This record gives sequence, structure tokens and C-alpha cells, in this order.
Amino acid sequence: MKAFMLLLLGCLAFSGSSCGLRVHRDLILKDQGFSRLFSSTDPSFASQISSFELTAAAKTGDPTFRIGDIPINFGDPENEQFQGVCFVYSSGEKEIIIRKSWWDGASGLARESLIFHELGHCALNRDHHNETVEALSRFFKTSMMNSVIVGPADYLQFKDEYHEELFTLSTTSLLGSLGL
Ligand SMILES: [Zn+2]
Repeated sequence: MKAFMLLLLGCLAFSGSSCGLRVHRDLILKDQGFSRLFSSTDPSFASQISSFELTAAAKTGDPTFRIGDIPINFGDPENEQFQGVCFVYSSGEKEIIIRKSWWDGASGLARESLIFHELGHCALNRDHHNETVEALSRFFKTSMMNSVIVGPADYLQFKDEYHEELFTLSTTSLLGSLGL
């Protein structure tokens, strides 16, 4: 809630509809007058949601962790650069919209990486974190909250480390695994 309020305040610092946060992010604050498109979740996303809740429980130590009232459905993310988006409405309600054409062609790892990223916005109130580090002769994202989602190969290799950062903000495990 605090992060949401901060974003809202940041948003209001810009004048009216030219708010800078709305255009370039997949965490989008909707103006008054817009309401949620869905009230329940498409069963297509059940396994990713279950995985997110189980991982959250393990990483936070809270066995009751649930994402709460955040419907996830296929639809138009409203920006061609995005395959998924977290919408936050003026009522405080949230929802996640996923582009079906991307989903249908994506691997299981890529799908999970995207859903975890969008839930990072919608359920964990996280913003983007675009830090990268150089290791093993290339660059690695240090967070699943990078504006470009973590690719399937890196996600497979460092899944536990990325989950650690997502839920605890600690990059210690990842940096250790990268030899840094
Ligand atoms: Zn994002």
C-alpha cells in the first residue's frame, strides 16, 4: 500500500493526463472512471499462481501468503511493447492482463517469469529494478523486476536466486552463484 501511494504521489506530480508513469511501464495507474475488466481469474494461470504463492510462502516464511483479489486474464495490455501489464484502478482494485498471442508461443519458464514479474507489481507492490551485473563474460539482470523479463535460460539456471530477490530484495544468493 505504501508503494502504491508513493507511485500515486509520483504520478500526481506530473500534470493531469500527461503523467509519466502511464506510458512506459507495465504498472499502470488507471484514471477515475475506469473499472476492472474481470472479477475472476482465467484457469489458464492456475499453475503459475500456485507456484507464486508456494514460493512466496517459502521465501517469506508466511505459509498463509496468497495473492489476494488480483484477477489474471487474457486481453490487450494496451501497449505493443508489453506482453503483460498490472493495472491499478483508482478504487484500489488491481488486475493483470496477458497478451494471448505471446502466451501461446511462450515456454513454461517464460510464462512463469512473466506472471511472477506482473505479480511483483500487483501483489508485492514492487516497481522496476533494472540493475545488471557483469559475470561469466556477459550481463545478468539482478531482479525479475527488470523491465525486460528474465529469459528462460537464466530463469532456469538461477530460479531460486531470482525468487530470493523477488520476495526478500536480497541479491546475495544470485551474486554468490555468479561468483561475485
Ligand atoms: Zn514491469
